Amino acid sequence: MSHKITALTVRDVRFPTSVEQHGSDAMHTDPDYSAAYVVIHTACGLKGFGFTFTLGKGTQIVVCAVEAVATLVVGKSLQEIVSDFRGFYRLLTSDGQMRWLGPEKGVIQLAVAAVLNAVWDLWARAEGKPLWKLLVDMDPRQLASCIDFRYITDALTEEEAVDMIVKAQEGKQQREDQMLKEGYPAYTTSCAWLGYPDQLLRQLCTDALKSGWTRFKVKVGGDLEDDVRRCRLIRQMIGPENTLMIDANQRWGVAEAISWVSRLAEFKPLWIEEPTSPDDILGHAAISKALAPLGIGVATGEQCHSRVMFKQFLQASALQFVQIDGCRVGSVNENLAVLLMAHKFQVPVCPHAGGVGLCELVQHLILFDYISVSGSLSNRMCEYVDHLHEHFTSPVVIRDAHYMPPKDPGFSCEMLESSVQRHQYPEGEVWKLNISK
Ligand SMILES: [Mg+2]
Repeated sequence: MSHKITALTVRDVRFPTSVEQHGSDAMHTDPDYSAAYVVIHTACGLKGFGFTFTLGKGTQIVVCAVEAVATLVVGKSLQEIVSDFRGFYRLLTSDGQMRWLGPEKGVIQLAVAAVLNAVWDLWARAEGKPLWKLLVDMDPRQLASCIDFRYITDALTEEEAVDMIVKAQEGKQQREDQMLKEGYPAYTTSCAWLGYPDQLLRQLCTDALKSGWTRFKVKVGGDLEDDVRRCRLIRQMIGPENTLMIDANQRWGVAEAISWVSRLAEFKPLWIEEPTSPDDILGHAAISKALAPLGIGVATGEQCHSRVMFKQFLQASALQFVQIDGCRVGSVNENLAVLLMAHKFQVPVCPHAGGVGLCELVQHLILFDYISVSGSLSNRMCEYVDHLHEHFTSPVVIRDAHYMPPKDPGFSCEMLESSVQRHQYPEGEVWKLNISK
């Protein structure tokens, strides 16, 4: 069957989540969860779906970047791509002219992520497997051959990567069986967005506890006294035995982060997420060092550009929890590098998934991480938010606060066509009604 790529289309799809303050945090007060949504068409009729995540305004810029990258994709066959996936990754990220727009960061990398997510979706569909299973079944050498090791060999070589995956083959089947039975542990961010009033926090927390949630994340960083009140309220609701995390979404400078979080230490958060600029590796290292005696770790990664930055975060002991994202770095190829480096440095991976479709994507990666790389659930959990899953053809399945492994072939990236049309910006029905935007 010919999986020659005949066309790549991209659309600007936006959901008006800002109306009810879903997703609001200290720096992103009115996000409209959005996506640059890609469909790859092939000669045999099979399609691959992918996207990258945005917050509304500016999605048109990502769409434009995807159109530029698409010229490198159309005309190739899936077989040609995956037989030299590292070469294809480099073709997209190291084009002699477009590279200047990054390299491997910002809008151009978001575009590469959208396109490569669609390629991985197409590959998994062609193999008739969910993406996590495609990865789990893949030969260690072939897995490593998808990764661009340029700039990271001082932390991880290809041989080491292969060795690590080979070693983790032991017990793999049991772990896969365990995941199919129990699922992967999740935590919820949906109870405590910054813009939610206290009464809503109480109600959402009560509902979540009833549904079996034991790990909760609270947005902080707006106002210190507000944070103290909200953290106290949530800690009282969930009790001392459940887990609390806090997330400042890059609100502070280094010294302010240390003093602010010290003030919240009495509520025993497991981690402070994104305390400062996502680019400030040494700042994160200083915060990590200062908060370690309080038993609070630093988590970051949702806006970490590339494997090169993750490498430095790990080398500098600047984070205690690695938060990979399905859309920020160069898709599965780059996330494989990050998972393997995190394993080498023995830092747990707890994926970021606040946004549209991000839960759908990262569940595949973290299942692969447990089954084929880390083999551990200690201090590990995957973020969950309960918004917008109804727009996907294979939405996530949560059971007792665990992600149940997806069964449908692909990367769970496909949106319902009716949803895409209704939410397409600016011509979709939803936006015609919402003329204030
Ligand atoms: Mg966050």
